[in-house]
Amino acid sequence: MRLVTFTHQGSTRIGAVDGDAVVDLAAAAPGLPRDMIGFLSAGAPARDAAHGAIASKKGRIPLADVCLDAPVPHPGKFLAIGLNYADHVAESGMEKPWVPVFFNKQATCVVGPSADVHLPRASSLLDYEGELAFVIGRRCRHVPRGRAAEVIAGYTIVDDVSVRDWQLRTPTMTMGKSFDTHGPMGPWIVTPDEVGDPHGLELRTWVNGELRQHSNTAQLIFDCFAQVEHLSTAFTLEPGDVVTTGTPAGVGGAMKPPRFLVAGDVVRIEIDRIGTIENRVVPEPEDSALL
Ligand code: ZN
Repeated sequence: MRLVTFTHQGSTRIGAVDGDAVVDLAAAAPGLPRDMIGFLSAGAPARDAAHGAIASKKGRIPLADVCLDAPVPHPGKFLAIGLNYADHVAESGMEKPWVPVFFNKQATCVVGPSADVHLPRASSLLDYEGELAFVIGRRCRHVPRGRAAEVIAGYTIVDDVSVRDWQLRTPTMTMGKSFDTHGPMGPWIVTPDEVGDPHGLELRTWVNGELRQHSNTAQLIFDCFAQVEHLSTAFTLEPGDVVTTGTPAGVGGAMKPPRFLVAGDVVRIEIDRIGTIENRVVPEPEDSALL
């Protein structure tokens, strides 16, 4: 199943993609929660109801008529891991980490799979990172690696957009990883039964049609299940938490000379069995101040 959060005629709700249509779960299964975190929290009965809604052929809207939002528009946690592909470790001039290097992206940076990404007023060192992400489906703690698959609701794509000078000039990456719009996500959550092995997926990133990153999730240093075990050693994971699993070689900042993103660039990330996200870089709008 491919689960989406979408906006249609001014209202935002969740659905399941079936061919070239979105099954509007608010219409086809009105008893279900209308937001993704509520839906995931409701567990297997909600998933069964969604399958029933798809089979019912009710509530279908052409995919082309809706705007897809991030599948989890405001995750409770948005965690990311750095230096998790050997080739990216090498291009970064770092040592291969012996523990997972996690950091937070703030939930406010999340945007949809085709939303604009802002080139911030504060920096011109804007960069992309194509990544596989997983979404937690069950409240859990102390999950052994061998049972981690049970708590993953599905997989999606994240561009871990990074502002390199803000990322690297302090001991933590928090500021440089969390500018508004710097968490494009989507286009949907693909459930594990449709993904199969999450550690054998081709990942490609293009900028303006030029292939910049090409790797396979088989190259992850700490795989998805190891990440669940590690994170849940410390804290409870909850439905809708998003963990993005790191990026392979080919980021703009590591090129010689570096090639950072400029306004007008289009970043496209594709992962086998998941789909594609495509985001255009635009100058941060003049009216972005909120006070
Ligand atoms: Zn990253």
